[in-house]
Amino acid sequence: MLAFGKVDLFLPVIRRVLAAAQSLGGVLPMVAAPVEARAEALHGIAYRWFRTADLVALLTVCGRVVEDGGLGRIFRAGPARECLGGAITTLRTHAADAARFSAVGPAFPSLFPHPEAGSACKRWLMLLRWMVRRTEPDLGLWTHLDPAQLVIPCDTHVGRVGRMLGLTHRASDDWRTAVEITAALARLDPQDPTRYDFALAHLGISGDCRGYRIPEVCPSCPLEPLCEAPLVRDSRRRSR
Ligand code: SF4
Repeated sequence: MLAFGKVDLFLPVIRRVLAAAQSLGGVLPMVAAPVEARAEALHGIAYRWFRTADLVALLTVCGRVVEDGGLGRIFRAGPARECLGGAITTLRTHAADAARFSAVGPAFPSLFPHPEAGSACKRWLMLLRWMVRRTEPDLGLWTHLDPAQLVIPCDTHVGRVGRMLGLTHRASDDWRTAVEITAALARLDPQDPTRYDFALAHLGISGDCRGYRIPEVCPSCPLEPLCEAPLVRDSRRRSR
């Protein structure tokens, strides 16, 4: 949930949260602990628009999920929109309950984006990729879900590289774009379209690709023969 923005910024915060959990005996004891104990352990920990109270409430939601039998149980088999949408609806019910015990900030609801609202739901789709895909670098623990029904986690990097490769022509990095990129990738591997996510994302994250062609980088890029990126930076391409 906190893994967004720059790694250098969010990693120390996650380490502080884990250290706070350790002070209560570990992650599971922490989510089972009284709200007051969690609030004390997490005191002063915040990241960007998420306050300490948001983290306390998030862990209350985690506790409810553990009581329900674990996160995997709230993701029902089926197409990603229904699978994720159903889970988010359940989580929102827990979140509304948790918010009654913590003074959550305005950002708290954004932890539970719903595909019906058009959000790309990137972090949740990333979790699904990790838990459902059967081969490395993913874990394949949720065998009741089908990798063929996953949708690619679309962020600025995947969206940009997807546009350069002609996998989508949509300008926004939203749910519809994620579905469009996934459909294009399914033409290459219909049983496992999100297998390409790691490669697409890391080309963008590496920082080498600027989104337009430059002689210092592009000749050695493996995607160069397929790339539709312009020769010069052209912001109008994103306004389509
Ligand atoms: S050819 Fe250049 S612009 Fe295209 S994906 Fe590769 S690095 Fe990016």
